[in-house]
Amino acid sequence: MSLPLDNDGFLRRECPHCIGQFKWHHGPASEEAEEQPSPASYYCPLCGQPAGLDSWWTQEQLDYAQGVFAPAAARMVEDELKAAFKSARSKHVKFSLQGGVNAPGVPSPLIEPDDMVIVTSPCHSYEPVKVPEAASGPYHCLVCGQAFAV
Ligand SMILES: [Zn+2]
Ligand SMILES: [Zn+2]
Repeated sequence: MSLPLDNDGFLRRECPHCIGQFKWHHGPASEEAEEQPSPASYYCPLCGQPAGLDSWWTQEQLDYAQGVFAPAAARMVEDELKAAFKSARSKHVKFSLQGGVNAPGVPSPLIEPDDMVIVTSPCHSYEPVKVPEAASGPYHCLVCGQAFAV
């Protein structure tokens, strides 16, 4: 599964604490960023609360992931059922599997608009984020949570 980035290479994220949306840069934003160890958690630029790296999915991304994986999971179940029925038949028990498991289609890909504005923290400027234009600071550094004004 792949998620769309905007034209600046940013990925949309949603804070599990304040449910605010922002974007972080996908992958290292610069050579300096490449040399940094990736942190165990990030801080929300909007509310400053930390969360683990896999806690930032937006509702749209979760829905999309479910839509992508559900048909694959349904096909797997169907294959296993067929295999089970096949071995059952060899013991002279009659089973038949009619039709297929009703699998929904794959959802259309997400589209990432070029909204929001880039802000960089003074302490970790190699890790820029995008925040909603309507938001007003202070913002928090993605890496260390330090508050800063723009
Ligand atoms: Zn937050
Ligand atoms: Zn920082």
